Amino acid sequence: MYIVALGSIEEDVLTAVEQGLGHAYGFGVKRLSGLAEPEYAYDAQRGQHSSAHVLRQLITRVPEDAMSMLGITQKDLFIPMLSFVLGQAQLSGPAAVISLARLQQEFYGLSPDRSLAVARTVKEAVHEVGHTVGLTHCADSSCPMSLSNNVRHVDAKGAELCASCIVLVEEKTKHARAMGTIPNSAGTRNV
Ligand SMILES: [Zn+2]
Ligand SMILES: [Zn+2]
Repeated sequence: MYIVALGSIEEDVLTAVEQGLGHAYGFGVKRLSGLAEPEYAYDAQRGQHSSAHVLRQLITRVPEDAMSMLGITQKDLFIPMLSFVLGQAQLSGPAAVISLARLQQEFYGLSPDRSLAVARTVKEAVHEVGHTVGLTHCADSSCPMSLSNNVRHVDAKGAELCASCIVLVEEKTKHARAMGTIPNSAGTRNV
């Protein structure tokens, strides 16, 4: 598994995501050298960045041995039918992206809360990477694979995958554990 900063992302956030993904999935997590801010994905009319464009760009950067590659951006992301997304991923991998913009209290005019923002980031990282592994949304509201449309939902769930999702991860990554990679397939899973 790989993570990559798109533009400037604080070190403590990257470290927390590395540790959180390693803990959740049991795979080594490597950090790629950072990429530029995703200006190519900017939509001037919306004042936001297109997560589909970011994903398309990320796909071109995926290392050959990568089961998953998670990009992390400070930019606020959208898909056409939604006002925003916290992240987006290809279902069954490899590319995923999360946005930190709406995970920060400052976005809502509140005082910064760094540890809360980092905790939210880890949950969303586990969620989007879960899609790349092949997981779909989980009905257990405490599981990070449950759907989060806003930060209240993110705060209500944990960072630990539920027992059913763990079984699914083991099943879906059996080949990857044996071969060091898993085949890619098309299809995306939003939010
Ligand atoms: Zn679950
Ligand atoms: Zn999702």
